[in-house]
Amino acid sequence: MKLVFATGNSGKLREASEILGEGFELVTPHQVGIVEDIPETGKTLVANSLQKAQYLYDKCGCNCFADDTGLEVDVLGGAPGVHTARYAGEDKDFNKNMDKVLHELQVIESEAQMAASLGVKMRPVSRRARFKSVITLIINGEKHFFEGTLEGVIARRKSGNGGFGYDPIFIADEYPDKTLADITEEQKNEISHRGKALREMAQWLKDNGF
Ligand code: IMP
Repeated sequence: MKLVFATGNSGKLREASEILGEGFELVTPHQVGIVEDIPETGKTLVANSLQKAQYLYDKCGCNCFADDTGLEVDVLGGAPGVHTARYAGEDKDFNKNMDKVLHELQVIESEAQMAASLGVKMRPVSRRARFKSVITLIINGEKHFFEGTLEGVIARRKSGNGGFGYDPIFIADEYPDKTLADITEEQKNEISHRGKALREMAQWLKDNGF
C-alpha cells in the first residue's frame, strides 16, 4: 500500500520502511511535489503529528501519516518534550541538543552533590527518560492515532555512530550497557517508540482490510 510519510528526516524514513516492510511503499512529501517545510507549531506531540498529517492531506489528498517524537527527561520536568527538535536552537542541531541535555543534567547533579556535602539529605538524581512517538494516519480522509514509548536513561556521554537524533545519549532499559546509537538498526526498531507505533498502525490497517 502506498502512503506518504510527512518527513524529511532520512533516518526516520529508513526506520519506517524497515519496520513496515514489503507491503508498504513510503513516499516522501518531496516526491508528491511538497517541497516547503511542513509546519509544526503545536503544543503537544498529538497536535504536531496531526498538524503535519493534515497539512499533507490538504495539499495532496492522499493517504498519509506523520509522526512526532519527543524525549522526556523526568528531572527536567519532561523537557525537551515537544521542543525536542529545537531544544538548543532553531537550527535543529542534534549535537547541540544532546550537549544541552547532558549539560543540564550535569548541573543538577553538581548542585545535588554540593547540597549533600553540606549535609542536606538528597535522593540520587534520576536520569530516567523516555521517547514518545505519536502517529497520525489519515486514510480516506479519516484520522487515526497510534502511540509508542521507549523507557530508558540518559547516558553520561555520547556513544555510538548508528541511529540519529538523540540516539547517542539514550540507553534503553532493554540494552542497559549501550546507547541506541551502539545497537543495530534491527535491535532499535524491535524496541523503539517508533517501531511500536508503526507496528500498531500496520496492524490496524491489516485488521481493517487495507
Ligand atoms: P520530530 O518528530 O521530527 O519533530 O523529531 C523531534 C526530535 O526528536 C528531532 O530532534 C529528532 O532528531 C529526535 N528524534 C526523533 N526520533 C528519534 C529517535 O528515534 N531517536 C533519537 N532522536 C529522535
